[in-house]
Amino acid sequence: MGAFLRVENLRTSFFTYAGEVKAVDGVNFELGKGEAMAIVGESGCGKSVTALSIMRLVPEPGKIVGGSILFEGEDLVRKSEREMQAIRGNEISMIFQDPMTSLNPVLTVGLQITEALKRHQGLSGEQARKRAIEMLELVGIPNPERRIKQYPHQFSGGMRQRVMIAMALSCNPKLLIADEPTTALDVTIQAQIIELMRELKDKLGTSILIITHDLGVVAGLASKVIVMYAGKVAEAGSVRDIFHNPQHPYTWGLLKSIPRLDAREKKRLVPIDGQPPDLLAPPKGCSFNPRCEYAMRICLERKPELTECGAGHKAACWLLHPMAARVRRDERRGV
Ligand code: SF4
Ligand code: MG
Repeated sequence: MGAFLRVENLRTSFFTYAGEVKAVDGVNFELGKGEAMAIVGESGCGKSVTALSIMRLVPEPGKIVGGSILFEGEDLVRKSEREMQAIRGNEISMIFQDPMTSLNPVLTVGLQITEALKRHQGLSGEQARKRAIEMLELVGIPNPERRIKQYPHQFSGGMRQRVMIAMALSCNPKLLIADEPTTALDVTIQAQIIELMRELKDKLGTSILIITHDLGVVAGLASKVIVMYAGKVAEAGSVRDIFHNPQHPYTWGLLKSIPRLDAREKKRLVPIDGQPPDLLAPPKGCSFNPRCEYAMRICLERKPELTECGAGHKAACWLLHPMAARVRRDERRGV
């Protein structure tokens, strides 16, 4: 058996009236058991669609058009909807940015957790209730016996996200996918939720795929990072590689746009100039070229391939080409 989760050449498109939008365009990665990986990028880069593809929950008019998603050796792309229903929530769980959209406002929190437990794990009512209390305790919700009788609106934003995590983990999934789990929360609560996820990963051995636009939340949780841009992997590596030896100009931009807690002097945050490309009419060559201050002539013509730049570290940028230094020098001279 190979990796725990191996995504190979995944392609997911949306077929709109205006044409095909290649939201995920040939993405590859591997996640080990008990490992946490982050997919980072601006909105529209394909990170959420990658997550939804794994869950096989890509909304219409989207469709997985190629590649495979091997989960413990079995290709999720080929599973029937029925087979996926047994996997979702049970073996793979997902949490979203806004818990209010995934929690049912008219059911008590307890009922929502026990529901999943009864359905997926075949627990009796009393067993499920006990497990629900345990789960709320595990995610740090005080007075769980009382809290399970309450409705989602009776919880604060941070507490609701904890409830979501409790729900997601209640069936003991092997993989937890968290799509922007802390974006709606303030910074202190954000840090607490990330810390909670890290603790739970260590305690329960759950593999985690965290999707975020904020490289800042990654360091505390993930060991590997994928930076996505315009549906493709721009750079992939360990957290160390990405933070200390980034190779792609887009990653440089993302790093400049996060507050550095360890920075001696407060540097001004620099958002990346320009907008992500329109995927209906992506630029020729490197998709990042309209925003890249290092763009060379070749960047406007040909797409860079992912190139190895260290063990387990890859980036798709022409700057990594051995000729790049000379080309840039020549271009400056106007050759
Ligand atoms: Fe910039 Fe060229 Fe690298 Fe693209 S390939 S990121 S345009 S230098
Ligand atoms: Mg998203």
